[in-house]
Amino acid sequence: MPTHQSIHRIAMLSVHGCPLMMPGARSAGGMNVYLRKITQLLAEHGVCVDVFTRNHHAGGPELLELGPNARVIHLPAGAPELVKDEIVPYLADYTDHLSRFVAEEGTSYDLVHSHYWLSGDVGADIALEWGVPHVVSYHTIAAQKQRAGGAPEPPERLEAEARMAAAADRVFASTAGEADDIGALFGLPPAGLHVVHGGVDTALFRPRDRAAARRAIGIAAHERVVLFVGRLEPFKGPDILVRALAEMQDGGDVRLVLVGGSEEERSAEWLDRIAAGLGVEARVHWQPAIPQADLPDFYAAADVCAVPSFHESFGLAALEAMACGTPVVAADVGALSSLVLDGETGRLVRGHEPRAFAAALEEMLDDPARLSLMGEAARAWATGFTWERSVAETLDGYRGVLAARSERPLVAPCV
Ligand code: UDP
Repeated sequence: MPTHQSIHRIAMLSVHGCPLMMPGARSAGGMNVYLRKITQLLAEHGVCVDVFTRNHHAGGPELLELGPNARVIHLPAGAPELVKDEIVPYLADYTDHLSRFVAEEGTSYDLVHSHYWLSGDVGADIALEWGVPHVVSYHTIAAQKQRAGGAPEPPERLEAEARMAAAADRVFASTAGEADDIGALFGLPPAGLHVVHGGVDTALFRPRDRAAARRAIGIAAHERVVLFVGRLEPFKGPDILVRALAEMQDGGDVRLVLVGGSEEERSAEWLDRIAAGLGVEARVHWQPAIPQADLPDFYAAADVCAVPSFHESFGLAALEAMACGTPVVAADVGALSSLVLDGETGRLVRGHEPRAFAAALEEMLDDPARLSLMGEAARAWATGFTWERSVAETLDGYRGVLAARSERPLVAPCV
């Protein structure tokens, strides 16, 4: 138990999700972006943050500074190339190495914050051992995913997620709706939940000249462009957009640009097959995942960004598109339902019928004046979602947890 009442040092446990991985391919996405931003900003607020993640890169560094006060520590736990579903047998190794690293350094932490179910049990054990509070963020929840039509998840995940809620001092959710869902799923009272919204870097993701953006990425001025940004997996629904393209009445000049996945994983093969079967392959363009810094040209070049996911916890791509002044057509699910203002910053589509997406996209693409008004409203709306707000909400959550254990905690600079 910390003897002081300040937040000096936080241990972030993220077994499989390293903040240094490039998002948009393999299993890296919104959670990695969130971890990196929150860690950097907490550090700027004077809180030291150590992110403990699995060593996922053979020969990679054990310890990396993300900036002053922020470190990423790679712990051995199974072969680096393992995919996330193969990590479970190595969680005990991760825990041993974590305990050893901390004991050798002689560091102490005020709070443990665990991310995703793979870190849940480890975090609960470590927090208990250190006598400090434990906060968890699910990022995605198996029961929710299954309810939304996702593939069956292993029972060990469902059980671990129930244990996470029961053992945590507080559960962070990314929207009020997700907090309600978690409360209902795991029988948690509102006091056990806290909302930390996702954010967007509005200096990077901002409106820019469409013609210049199109020239930069090789899209002709006359084309109408629908953009998808994210991992190319069925749960994110990119195939719905390929099918929607074929459903459009007057879509000859509409191009679908998919950004995400990797050549190595052959992420677009299944989509190529669908496109070829429908005769729209010439209008589907794939760009394997690129660094975030290169994404604004894509968002700015697009007429509309489409997010047809079956569930989204953060929906960062939707937020980034809006911040660039590009309206969004999204499935009316998860965080997207509150992120996209239907009829103002884009359109929300109920269900996942390609025809419904085609209709919403055509309606928007056919009305450039409205599209442009929506783009302005989207930018204005997205600027409210700063990472500064997310980190303020994070600190509020931590303070609440520490206050529940001791009285009146303060944030104090680390020494
Ligand atoms: N992303 C990226 N490069 C890409 C594709 C995606 O950096 O080629 C980033 C994107 O900017 C966003 C994140 O990956 O911040 C995806 O987050 P989102 O919440 O949209 O989806 P998730 O991955 O959480 O399902």
